[in-house]
Amino acid sequence: MAERGLIVDLQSCTGCHACEVACKQEHRYRVDQWGIKVAQIGPYHGRGDRWTWTFVPTPTDLCNLCRHLTVKGQAPSCVHHCPTKCIEVVEGPEAVADAVRLVSGSDRWVFFNK
Ligand code: SF4
Ligand code: SF4
Repeated sequence: MAERGLIVDLQSCTGCHACEVACKQEHRYRVDQWGIKVAQIGPYHGRGDRWTWTFVPTPTDLCNLCRHLTVKGQAPSCVHHCPTKCIEVVEGPEAVADAVRLVSGSDRWVFFNK
């Protein structure tokens, strides 16, 4: 298993797409390229007139976890620009093991192993 990845707190993600834009600008991707894409699940009909959505920021094969930044101790661009701080980079075997434990059986957290 790779020893790096991104972990996302789905409960705090608002679906604002700032991570997509930040990644595109950081890597100068073309308009049809993404390092991360925010998937939308729903809406679900809740109680009364309430509707809810779940947003899942999903790194693509182009995501290299911004190694050019993390080697300097800086956060990946998506992490830095996320207004709710719901996305974090995970590095090292112990941190990855912690992330896997956290997401196991959880519908709040998702971990993308890179
Ligand atoms: S991960 Fe952060 S920046 Fe990306 S859509 Fe969710 S709230 Fe916005
Ligand atoms: S870690 Fe870097 S390359 Fe990966 S999605 Fe975030 S900004 Fe894009």
